[in-house]
Amino acid sequence: MPQSLTYAALLRQSGLDRSDALALFCHATGHNRAWLIAHDRDEVLPEHAAVFHSLAERRRAGEPVAYLTGEREFYGRPFAVSPAVLIPRPETELLVELALARAPQGAKVLDLGCGSGCIPVTLKLERPDLQVTAVDISAPSLVMAQGNATRLGAAVRFIESDWFGALAGESFELIVSNPPYIEQHDPHLQQGDLRFEPRHALTDEADGLAHLRRIVAQAPVHLTPGGWLLFEHGWDQGPGSRALLEAAGFAEVQTWTDLAGLDRVSGGRKG
Ligand code: GLN
Repeated sequence: MPQSLTYAALLRQSGLDRSDALALFCHATGHNRAWLIAHDRDEVLPEHAAVFHSLAERRRAGEPVAYLTGEREFYGRPFAVSPAVLIPRPETELLVELALARAPQGAKVLDLGCGSGCIPVTLKLERPDLQVTAVDISAPSLVMAQGNATRLGAAVRFIESDWFGALAGESFELIVSNPPYIEQHDPHLQQGDLRFEPRHALTDEADGLAHLRRIVAQAPVHLTPGGWLLFEHGWDQGPGSRALLEAAGFAEVQTWTDLAGLDRVSGGRKG
């Protein structure tokens, strides 16, 4: 008889940190954390061990937990994710908060490069009065985003578009974006979760500001007077972002810091 394995030991022996192991176990078995606490010392069922082992092995090889479970929470709601889209980051909640604080009642709002849809879906659910449009250049990402909008009950208009390409003649009171802003040789692209995320959603294959230059240059054409442009960027891109906004004639140009105290969002108002 092989020695019996308890649930506590199964998780401990996985070599994963506890929160990863818990997330994968719950996903693999359909049980919640309370169940696991109650059954900590029970003998593991063979079918539970099998599904958990295969997920744990993939995690040890580096696959992000969110891709293994197919889900990541953003602004308190569960979003479906796949390797077709960037995994929503908590820092991006800052962009959402700044947008919510600046969107006039009933405003038309645009999100450029929506990925999983976490930004436009959250804006619509937090503020049902807004008319939210979201674009992405990637068709698989739009399928993912539309699925999230439907599942969470958010009426968002999705359009396949290379930034403003498919939006000729349209204007908005507020434009937001979390574009690919990582510089092409940034070593982080070869580390951690980023290795498994879509490269086109992370880097511009240039100096990191290439997409921001296009967005900032074209945004005034699509903003109503007084409308805000707000976008996320890297910790060292605050000065560069403000310079772009000022050169394009934006007023009230500023940068906001995230919870870690790093420059994370910049924006300005169309004069
Ligand atoms: N915030 C992400 C990271 O640094 C990058 C996301 C992006 O390029 N928009 O990991």
